[in-house]
Amino acid sequence: MSFSPSNALRAARDAALSMDGLASTIHVGEAGSFAALGPAFLTRLPATPVPDPYLVAISHEMAESLGFDAELAESDEAAAFAAYFAGNPTREWPADALPYATAYSGHQFGVWAGQLGDGRALTFGEVQRNAARLEVQLKGTGRTPYSRMGDGRAVLRSSIREFLCSEAMHHLGIPTTRALAIIGSDLPVRRESIETAAIVTRVAPSFVRFGHFEHFYSNDRTNDLRALADHVIDRFYPHCREADDPYLALLDQALRTTADLMAEWQGVGFCHGVMNTDNMSILGLTIDYGPFGFVNGFNAHHICNHSDTQGRYAYSRQPQVGYWNLFCLAQALVPLFGNNLPEEGRSERVVEEAQKVMERYKTYFAPALEAKMRAKLGLEVAREEDIALANNLFEVMHANRADFTLTFRNLAKIAKADSSRDAPVRDLFLDRAAFDAWAVRYRERLAQETRDDDARAEAMNRVNPKYVLRNHLAEQAIRQAAGKDFSEVARLLDVLRHPYDEQPHYEAYTDLPPDWAGDLEVSCSS
Ligand code: AMP
Ligand code: MG
Repeated sequence: MSFSPSNALRAARDAALSMDGLASTIHVGEAGSFAALGPAFLTRLPATPVPDPYLVAISHEMAESLGFDAELAESDEAAAFAAYFAGNPTREWPADALPYATAYSGHQFGVWAGQLGDGRALTFGEVQRNAARLEVQLKGTGRTPYSRMGDGRAVLRSSIREFLCSEAMHHLGIPTTRALAIIGSDLPVRRESIETAAIVTRVAPSFVRFGHFEHFYSNDRTNDLRALADHVIDRFYPHCREADDPYLALLDQALRTTADLMAEWQGVGFCHGVMNTDNMSILGLTIDYGPFGFVNGFNAHHICNHSDTQGRYAYSRQPQVGYWNLFCLAQALVPLFGNNLPEEGRSERVVEEAQKVMERYKTYFAPALEAKMRAKLGLEVAREEDIALANNLFEVMHANRADFTLTFRNLAKIAKADSSRDAPVRDLFLDRAAFDAWAVRYRERLAQETRDDDARAEAMNRVNPKYVLRNHLAEQAIRQAAGKDFSEVARLLDVLRHPYDEQPHYEAYTDLPPDWAGDLEVSCSS
């Protein structure tokens, strides 16, 4: 079932600024899609309209990927565009093609939380383009049957953070859900104070979470569990079908992608903040941007979520938590394992086999992290002592609270031959002697490399970003947006589209957090 363009949007198409490409390719309930799994998995309902929606931000690249021109959002059709992506009923939604909220469960802060689900998000359907199929979802569209005590809304503040960070992560090369647009409304939303509502359009190949599997496992719905696993395998990991046990192969796939994602996060100093199992993507995407943060002055145990009083999701713990979450996923998949095994003693064998697969996490994570750290240090050859060298740097950074992003970025400036060009990185350390001692080791190691300084610097600059979404940058854009000036959101998106490039006109975006940002706190409130 595909939607027919409304009159307003047809007019826009005639003006060669068209949503036609998008509207005509959104499909709901296509064979093989999540929606086709049926009513056990989702509830169809319309969005709750918001008054007078307006455009806050749009990602031109994402619009292009979906097959339409982002200029539409700022054309004569701006009002229709904003209404459409707010989920307002600007067009006739066929009864069988309403958007849907999905059911999932999960472990939150290590405790079984029971049923959760899309409490404030609705998925439109899929866009198929150039062999890629992307699901399009609106977050903040009002209450659903899974809202529990929540109001179904998202505030502008957290929507700006999610929008900017998902696009920033994409440009850093880190797997993530994407964001197309933010639509705002002056609808008041109560958090610690009264804020205003916003709706983010999120885009991903799939929004399936570990928690979706836990949901059907915890309810003893093995057929639904199998249907979900089959959906993920058929669509994303068809090679798993060739394995002796396709579902163990699916677990293995989740181990790999999660391990890779953890190495990526650690490599840029990204803290997710709420690594509950319902916030873990089965595809290994970064998903659900809430109280995330990039580490500034390095503290290995940095906690970015003010609500995380125990530090469960501290920077240093993320890879371990990823593993813990994978155990929850493995547990949920147990009823599917072992069809290839003889019935006699099957349940014991199943657990053994699953444990063996789980053991592979370290063989995926450690090499991924090591490769990342070597690249960050500009080392081409792999030598055993490299890990100790990297760890030692982290120790010195931690002791000095040296800025994560600037330390690695400025490391590229160091000369192989002598300390003449150490200053840009050395000056980030209060204890200069500790840095110097490390630099001696680093230079000894560099002496074993064949690349010259320029070639090494060039390679390092492709893995050590110059621009990341520091909290104070997002905060500045949020403060301006409260006064309806959205230009800083657009500017930040522009900066973060090229995180590895020198952008001299944007030099100020590399600055350390100003004093006023010292006590910025981000919590689960979003
Ligand atoms: P989160 O902490 O954002 O990952 O959310 C955990 C669960 O709470 C998910 O099921 C969300 O959909 C739901 N949720 C969070 N905020 C709201 C809200 N304002 N209204 C309804 N549900 C919400
Ligand atoms: Mg969530």
